[in-house]
Amino acid sequence: CGIVGYIGQDNAAPILLNGLKRLEYRGYDSAGMATLQKDGSILATRRVGKVANLAAALPSNKEDAGLGISHTRWATHGGVTEPNTHPHSSDDGIIHIVHNGVIENYQQLKVSLSAKGIAFHNETDSEVLSNLIAYTLKKLAEPISEKTVLKAIRQSLVQVEGTYGLAIICSKCPGSLFGARKGSPLILGIGKNEMMLASDASAVRARTKEVVYLEDSQIVALSGENFSITTLEEAEVIPEISTISWKD
Ligand code: GLU
Repeated sequence: CGIVGYIGQDNAAPILLNGLKRLEYRGYDSAGMATLQKDGSILATRRVGKVANLAAALPSNKEDAGLGISHTRWATHGGVTEPNTHPHSSDDGIIHIVHNGVIENYQQLKVSLSAKGIAFHNETDSEVLSNLIAYTLKKLAEPISEKTVLKAIRQSLVQVEGTYGLAIICSKCPGSLFGARKGSPLILGIGKNEMMLASDASAVRARTKEVVYLEDSQIVALSGENFSITTLEEAEVIPEISTISWKD
């Protein structure tokens, strides 16, 4: 339902929470967040119910490493439970995603990944994406970098039928935040030494007025200072930056 991602120099968690609160009006049943910690680990927290429940479950007074993704879920596949709440992590713990939309061929993808020994831990269609990207990345057998993660995302998404707005982080590529969309909105917010991803511009308004509306079949890789947009077919996209004038 709602997506907020952040990469920059500030503590990601409060910025993500503020963004999720701005998206609450859309309705949702659960909320979650994954942030990169200073020791290089990923902390994922999921709660059924309100964003306030998620906020209460997060460690207080703990600085993260300025990278994270978050989500408010409106369940389509799998009940409203904590394990079904996004973010979803790959079985090997490397890829973490939040997803809006529906993966139509998730059952088929799940069967083929399970046959390769990958374990699934919840009932959502979305979990297949984290495992598909992680498996594709492993199969590339190249050192993990922004470039190889992008390649794995591309090679995964061409196999997917359905709709997605996605924010993705990779614990082995801590300087990058990734996004992709098809049939579900995703915008990029350009701040000062920071970038955001969101399903709705209202989620970035506390940090920036400069946004890029991504189009279907586009993939974005963000660092704090830069971003690059390419298509699923690997063509470079010249971004059109819009300035939002908030009315209140
Ligand atoms: N299909 C996904 C799920 O049921 C995503 C739902 C959403 O867009 O919030 O978890």
